Amino acid sequence: MTSFTLIYGCMFSGKTTKLIELYQHCGFEQEEIIVVKPVIDNRFVADKVNSHSGLNMPGMRIKNPEQIESYITESTKIIFIDEVQFFGSRVGTIIQNILMQDIAVVASGLDRDYLHKDFGPMPDLKRMADKNIALTARCHLCNEKGTHTFRTIKNDSQILVGHDNMYQARCEKHWDEGMKAFTN
Ligand code: ADP
Ligand code: MG
Repeated sequence: MTSFTLIYGCMFSGKTTKLIELYQHCGFEQEEIIVVKPVIDNRFVADKVNSHSGLNMPGMRIKNPEQIESYITESTKIIFIDEVQFFGSRVGTIIQNILMQDIAVVASGLDRDYLHKDFGPMPDLKRMADKNIALTARCHLCNEKGTHTFRTIKNDSQILVGHDNMYQARCEKHWDEGMKAFTN
């Protein structure tokens, strides 16, 4: 049966690692698989999807979610999407269209931004998914469960691509303390 799996959590929670694991174990041939990520994510090598833990898989960078449809062929069985939160509100409809063609979708993304607000299409995608995989990280300060993305530099735009040079996973308490320290 065609299914939509959504992997979500804060930064460094292992979302991309999980996506790559599911890719490696999906059992389909290379020509039956499409892997995409938004072009905005320029942190790593262009034609690869990389995790912070050092894993990678071949993938294409695309500018908008409509481009996914242009890669679909008769052989396509499954589509993996990393950093899906950057694709904006149209991605939900596109995923629905893909599922209707009997192609499975596995997507991963940040469900909350650095202010812990819903990130773009993620609430809709959570409702649509047949399977939600919620991941947590370890708090950078206390090593307890990390559920929040803390931005370590002062910058107010929702989209600011970076890794551990700009972000830390934190527990709610340490995220809160960090946010208060910024406003004081
Ligand atoms: P996500 O896609 O959710 O950001 P990744 O799958 O890319 O997460 O990688 C998460 C893993 O990366 C962590 O479990 C950890 O082992 C490792 N890692 C590497 N560098 C860092 C870092 N600076 N902070 C936290 N985790 C890191
Ligand atoms: Mg990732």
